[in-house]
Amino acid sequence: MNHVDAEIISYTLSERNYKPAKDCAKANLIVVVTCGVRNSAEERIVSWTQKLKTQSKNSVIVLTGCLSHREDIKTRLHETVDLFIPIENWMARKDEIFSLTHNVGAGLKPAPTGEKNCFYQILPQRASTFQAYIPIMTGCNNFCSYCVVPYARGREKSRSPESIINEAEQLVKKGCKELYLLGQNVNSYQGKDKNNRIWNFARLLKNINGIAGNFWIRFISSHPKDITEKFIETYANCRKVSSNLHLPIQSGSNKILGLMNRKYTRENYLDIISKIRRRYPQAVLSTDIIVGFPGETDKDFRDSLDIVKKVGFEMLFSLKYSSRPETAAQKMKDSVPPAIKIARQRKLDQVWKKIALAKNKRFLGQEIKILVDRIKTKTDNHGKITRYVQGKSFENKDIQGLIKSGKGNDLIGKWATVKISETTAVALRGELARVKKNI
Ligand code: SAH
Ligand code: SF4
Repeated sequence: MNHVDAEIISYTLSERNYKPAKDCAKANLIVVVTCGVRNSAEERIVSWTQKLKTQSKNSVIVLTGCLSHREDIKTRLHETVDLFIPIENWMARKDEIFSLTHNVGAGLKPAPTGEKNCFYQILPQRASTFQAYIPIMTGCNNFCSYCVVPYARGREKSRSPESIINEAEQLVKKGCKELYLLGQNVNSYQGKDKNNRIWNFARLLKNINGIAGNFWIRFISSHPKDITEKFIETYANCRKVSSNLHLPIQSGSNKILGLMNRKYTRENYLDIISKIRRRYPQAVLSTDIIVGFPGETDKDFRDSLDIVKKVGFEMLFSLKYSSRPETAAQKMKDSVPPAIKIARQRKLDQVWKKIALAKNKRFLGQEIKILVDRIKTKTDNHGKITRYVQGKSFENKDIQGLIKSGKGNDLIGKWATVKISETTAVALRGELARVKKNI
């Protein structure tokens, strides 16, 4: 989401004739898009911004994103940052930047009006021509007890289906091959069409899948409480929709799920998984789990390990609980010592990686289609350079394929296949087999 925020900000500035600087230290203006989901991200941003100020003394620094409304952050950065603009106020307040940057951009074009005035209606200035992030909704109404998102992003707001579909059609027409539909809870999508009818996420997905062209659709994130039969049916039927479903469970313990205010139990979650598996056996499931939430005992943690094994997640993001300002959990005692959080995270990583390693073996010997997104080079001790194509498969697996001849730079943004000869828990490797426009 922060990536697409930055691309939209970039567009609004380019409209006023601001141009990207080659060197941060020489930029007139630096906009810092912040994340405050965990304390570690927050600390990194604060020290990075302070360092930036010492290196770019003459730059105007604007801070937006999750941290821009926080009084403690404003106090800590009051000598570093010139302007704090929360993302939801960007359209209304961005013109304040002109006077600080010696009126660069002032008086060039009138401010956008109507629907265009809404941040997520602005077409981002995209860095890639073959992959695109499309925000479909923003904000969150769920108030999980550990999470800053509802405070940082406000309540759920969905874009209209017409504007999303139109954007997707234009992107595909220009050759874009991978669309990422983004939102804090994409499955709570409730966009109103021009006849005032509300669309759900399944309907939106089906319509985007119906756009003519050779492309893949990915989406993130989904909340388990919003997974409906209709959604499962659509996800299973739509051939352009990736088979990877990222469905954060956060904990396998009913006690902890209750304290987290997640609104489902482990039994509800397992029930959803068995419905998905029944309808779509090829589904590749991934998740997020927080370790060391206040009150998490060894038994609660074992429940998390148990559910990871029962579901058979092929990818898992394990996160150490981090107490966050404004949240309900901040009032609970952060009772799990850091060393135990680290040990639980290690154990969790061991368990899911063992599952993923075993499951990834099914790809051995297969030719897997990828969208090449970069070329990686490795130089050995004798200076010999070896090149690889890198990209993700339909299942969202990271794939690397040895290029036998040529540099491969012309392959970026193209479909290719890689013949898999080696698998790890997190990647599949082999030789580049075929490159084609329409594999
Ligand atoms: N809307 C998504 C998650 C968005 S936040 C959902 O409901 O699943 C992304 C991830 O950050 C979460 O899945 C959670 O695992 C992690 N996270 C959020 N707040 C956290 C905190 N205070 N400490 C540790 N991890 C946190
Ligand atoms: Fe945060 Fe996701 Fe919970 Fe919303 S649903 S509060 S974004 S973890």
